Amino acid sequence: MEEAWYSIRMRAAEGGAHETGGRHISGAERLARREQLETYAAELIQRAFSHSRGESDFVNISIEKLPSSILKIPPLALSTESVQDEAEGREKAGQILKQIGVSDPAIGKGLALLQAAANYRGAILIHGETGERVDDRGIRGVRVSRMDWDHDSYSKWAEEHHHFCSSRIAEAIALASKVSHSPFTLAELCWSDDPDYITGYVASPQIGYKRITHLKKVGNSSGGRIFFVNKDIDLDSYIRYLELEPVWIGKK
Ligand code: AMP
Repeated sequence: MEEAWYSIRMRAAEGGAHETGGRHISGAERLARREQLETYAAELIQRAFSHSRGESDFVNISIEKLPSSILKIPPLALSTESVQDEAEGREKAGQILKQIGVSDPAIGKGLALLQAAANYRGAILIHGETGERVDDRGIRGVRVSRMDWDHDSYSKWAEEHHHFCSSRIAEAIALASKVSHSPFTLAELCWSDDPDYITGYVASPQIGYKRITHLKKVGNSSGGRIFFVNKDIDLDSYIRYLELEPVWIGKK
């Protein structure tokens, strides 16, 4: 019998649980074999208590057994756009999004939402043409889950991209690759709400994962993720894919 895979996820908040109004501090997920679960749980607990956004007083770890067949998709290609400051970075992000086909009002809305956002656990879904928000998840947003790098593919990728093999970039590429793989995704815009981390990215199937070196100033806790969706979106199936479909990132 084939050995089972599990999804292990962590979410941490300050001021109580997310569902009772606590402020989101940290979240992460892995796919794991049974014998890896204890190690991953320890790593996730460590992460929950060492985030620069604050001191977690609520941590939830959940583990679920997955179906045996898991979709495998390639990682987006990585490139970097070097800019001098946040103004140039946001201008550049806007130009790239426009080139992908996101409208000016949608770009403006996306940038404004990220500038104001500081407490989302998941992504905000915006219509790429009208700029209207299409999900009804409020401050929770839509959390992409059940994705991880295939171990061998990650080792190879890390060798080829040794300047970029931080867990932050690896996890962001896994997430962005899963998001871009959906036919309903036009593009993604992200900068972290971690006040120490100012590099963000724009991602899409066309342009890959494009890092932009400044998207905010050090010390600024705004940030989050915007998924610009196309007009054919089937919202229920899109959210089901993002939240529930297990995906490996790696070469087939
Ligand atoms: P991070 O890249 O971990 O600094 O996260 C920055 C922001 O992206 C978070 O505050 C959330 O709004 C959003 N985010 C983080 N993880 C996810 C996820 N798995 N799915 C959707 N959005 C996420």
